[in-house]
Amino acid sequence: MPHDPYKALYLHIPFCVRRCGYCDFATSAVERDSPAIDEYVESLALQLRRASKEGELGQIETAYIGGGTPSHIGMGRLSMLLYALSTAMHLTPEVECTMEANPESLTEAMVRDIWALGVNRLSIGVQSFDDDLLRQMDRYDKYGCAAEILERIQEASPYFTSMNADMIFNFPAQTEDTLIRDIEMVVASGASQTTFYPLMASPSVERSLAATVGPVDYAREQRFYEIICDLLLGDLPNGQPGLFELGSAWTFNRRGTGAAGEDAMIDEYVVDYEEYPAIGSGGITYLGKNLYVNTFSVREYNEAIESGRMSMMGKTTFSLRDRMRYRFMMQLFGLRLDKRQFERDFGMSIERGLPAEMAFMRTCGAFAIDNDDELTLTPKGRYLVVVMMRQFFIGVNNLRDQARAALTGEERELIFGDGTGKACGTAGADSAGAVAAETSEATASEVADVAEAVAAGAVLDATEAVAAEE
Ligand code: SF4
Repeated sequence: MPHDPYKALYLHIPFCVRRCGYCDFATSAVERDSPAIDEYVESLALQLRRASKEGELGQIETAYIGGGTPSHIGMGRLSMLLYALSTAMHLTPEVECTMEANPESLTEAMVRDIWALGVNRLSIGVQSFDDDLLRQMDRYDKYGCAAEILERIQEASPYFTSMNADMIFNFPAQTEDTLIRDIEMVVASGASQTTFYPLMASPSVERSLAATVGPVDYAREQRFYEIICDLLLGDLPNGQPGLFELGSAWTFNRRGTGAAGEDAMIDEYVVDYEEYPAIGSGGITYLGKNLYVNTFSVREYNEAIESGRMSMMGKTTFSLRDRMRYRFMMQLFGLRLDKRQFERDFGMSIERGLPAEMAFMRTCGAFAIDNDDELTLTPKGRYLVVVMMRQFFIGVNNLRDQARAALTGEERELIFGDGTGKACGTAGADSAGAVAAETSEATASEVADVAEAVAAGAVLDATEAVAAEE
């Protein structure tokens, strides 16, 4: 089907050293030396070559290698992947190329090599610099203590235009003091960007979260968000502007670095680019009016690519109203909604297209600018958008649960286990397994139904959630 040239590309690496109890991403615990990773990377390279041959990748402006843990697959495979990417899509220094990493697998040599092969933005999963919280999250042994993580970021930062420290806030055991300490450590790390995600309790990880870090209390979320904004954005004692500026409702870019300014890209590539094809098992693609879900089975993905087939397990077409809601949420998350573009693209004003959402936001005092051209947000409006995005991601996680439930045999063990070869003893696995058991007959069409529900419900759920918290 004819379409506008793709500008953004997402590549998914569905492997981690062990699954974290709070995580609902499409990933499984696979040993670093497993041949399964080799096969998968070859399939990715093959798909890239095909897409390039078909002329699909000539205008890509940004490539994002996410996961899972891309750094977990080691430098040999990353070299192969980045080389395949560079020959498939003109990976020049002007093209944004982002890779996610975890501290323990990001060696000094890897930093140099991925930089030389074209990665210019790195995103490191930190979550917190508090050793007790890292222990609670089961990250202390896996990824090192706070001091080691800090050293990794400081070593790697100079190589990249943007170095993002991925943080989570509102852990049940987090206090205002430990949150402030986390923010201070981010500042000290030299990271040019930081993303503070609110802790999200998707149904499949709710029990494991409660059993490890404790039950999530959304009532504290707004206060914690305000602390983060005050400390990162607030003026300095000498009257100078704060060290960071906003990139999105939860992304902060350090002033005076390549991560800030007009062309700054934020860690949620889905905001800068509304359409993005996703390559790889577990990838979710949004193109035109459609959302496609790739199979969560690595084996099925390899087989599909080898035989020249598509790797999708489900597809859904969004209604006009759902696409308007998606635009509303994503552009506001990116801090500015272009009303004229909205009218051009959807054939009606935002007031006519989304009267309930607009009335709700106006009543809450969410808009700083609300004229014929644009909408921008007040601090309160930014928090409302954080809640919307939290609910949206929880919805996407529900979609992932459905897709995972279709897995069978060894892959099912891997994705619900902890990578040690024995059944995972955590409540996380129990909970994920319970969700899977309930929905083990999930079919591609059921996955598509859930995808539709995610799009339809995200904004509404969020507005209801906010209304309840008010
Ligand atoms: S490291 Fe943990 S949080 Fe990150 S993708 Fe893997 S399982 Fe999820």
